Amino acid sequence: MSTNDRASETTDFIRDIIRDDLASGKHESIVTRFPPEPNGYLHIGHSKSICLNFGIARATGGRCHLRFDDTNPMKEEMEYIESIQTDVRWLGYDWGEHLYFASDYFETLYEWAEALISSGDAYVDDLSADEIRAHRGTLTEPGTPSPHRDRSVEDNVDLFRRMRAGEFGNGARVLRAKIDMASGNINLRDPVLYRILHAPHPRTGDAWCIYPTYDFAHGQSDAIEHITHSLCTLEFESHRPLYDWLIEHLPVPSRPRQIEFARLNLSSTVLSKRKLLRLVKEGHVAGWDDPRMPTLSGIRRRGVPPAAIRALVDRVGVAKRDSVVDYALFEHCIRDLLNRTAERRMAVLRPLKVVITNYPEGDSEELEAINNPEDPAAGTRRVPFGRELYIESDDFMEDPPKKFFRLAPGREVRLRYAYFITCDEVVKDDSGEVVELRCSYDPATRGGDAPDGRKVKATLHWVSAAHAVAAEVRLYDHLFEVEQPGADGDFVDDLNPDSLEILTGCKLEPSLADVESGTQVQFERLGYFAPDPDSTPAEPVFNRVVTLRDTWARIRKQQSG
Ligand code: ATP
Ligand code: MG
Repeated sequence: MSTNDRASETTDFIRDIIRDDLASGKHESIVTRFPPEPNGYLHIGHSKSICLNFGIARATGGRCHLRFDDTNPMKEEMEYIESIQTDVRWLGYDWGEHLYFASDYFETLYEWAEALISSGDAYVDDLSADEIRAHRGTLTEPGTPSPHRDRSVEDNVDLFRRMRAGEFGNGARVLRAKIDMASGNINLRDPVLYRILHAPHPRTGDAWCIYPTYDFAHGQSDAIEHITHSLCTLEFESHRPLYDWLIEHLPVPSRPRQIEFARLNLSSTVLSKRKLLRLVKEGHVAGWDDPRMPTLSGIRRRGVPPAAIRALVDRVGVAKRDSVVDYALFEHCIRDLLNRTAERRMAVLRPLKVVITNYPEGDSEELEAINNPEDPAAGTRRVPFGRELYIESDDFMEDPPKKFFRLAPGREVRLRYAYFITCDEVVKDDSGEVVELRCSYDPATRGGDAPDGRKVKATLHWVSAAHAVAAEVRLYDHLFEVEQPGADGDFVDDLNPDSLEILTGCKLEPSLADVESGTQVQFERLGYFAPDPDSTPAEPVFNRVVTLRDTWARIRKQQSG
């Protein structure tokens, strides 16, 4: 895995801290974790966290845990737990035996909550969520203590046990840490540690009706697992004092250190599970794995190799400053990789029939074609050629403008790996549409060069009609037509109505009938493609992974210019 080799040489402020902690002997080995909440599918933003946490563990010979932060049963589902594991493995990482769930620690967390009550550091509050918010104060004004703040330890223990026993309804009471209602950091103004939620949990079922908040569960789970470095995104920076406060006030077995880094943001898409869920629920896309989605399952289905995502993450690097990465950079990483690895094939998406009138009827032959000019080891293959062929209909113009060098009446072009052909006659249907070209070929140009040295200005891809495999090809464009969906209003209004085009009756060279799922090929002159899970040998279906050139940037330049 070249990307990971590179990653091990990468340096950034987090890897520097880790190197120092190993060098100073503060830690003998590094333990990190990737802590998704199972309330949706992973998206490409998560890969930054996955590559960082698993990458550091791999590079230092430490380990990385996969821990589900499953503290909110209202939004969490088994389907998400499974998809997340599939996606992390697909990205190339493995947690071995270190699969954990915050829900495994519910009993311990409960005991620690009682310990906080006993030491006078937590209390049960009867205020509603709205009242708590109203008492919290603002950035410039201190909060107001709750009237229940000074309950006795006995009353607090009693109420907390009754919360657990299910005596109270949702939202009737919460457990709060007793820290400082005047703190300059709002997260320290007596944050909520437990709330009542009468809802079955995907893993613990009906065992609990109180659930710890993220703040109470996260750091303590880190400590239980002896995580050395708890790497999270910048929005948790202001939670760090609370993270540290809890670690200091609880009998935890280790002291993890939280370090924050900037999220990965991508232009022309949305990276928030809430928004992605809405796209799915409202039917704007076919599902979480719709190839236009920025989810890892969508990207996988589209045909993007996981190494391209690792390459993107590597290039973006790890920093403390938020930024938006241009989607074009992701596409560049995909092309850069596939240019080296994808075999070339010929496929015609919008076929126009060509009859080579001087080619003997019933004859055919095989021509040698290079599989990958970037990789001699990929070798060659034989491509069948015959009297009837298909070319791309936009490779022909009856009345070509000046700069159109492809096929036109009376003009000679090269068929890739085959022969020079000249267009002699254009056949149209009743409506005047061109339905067939009658051409002649020069047998002396076999392989693609004229012995007399004459040149042609264009080389076209083609497929032999007698041997062609019919296929469906799905072309994708950006899901959103603006760089910042939702910048002026509802992000759904920025959806690109032309993000999917389905072509049927495409013609493929025969070797494309059995491309394995997860393999990408370049359709010459058209882009990189990969079979969709809907594909069968009898009825192949290909997705366009990415075009060959960055048409998007060009279009946008034209629009703005
Ligand atoms: P979203 O904002 O999409 O709902 P989240 O932060 O709620 O995501 P979690 O399941 O809590 O999703 O995320 C798991 C881990 O992935 C967290 O440590 C989080 O910081 C990290 N993560 C989430 N989104 C990104 C991102 N865009 N870039 C880098 N890391 C991310
Ligand atoms: Mg989160």
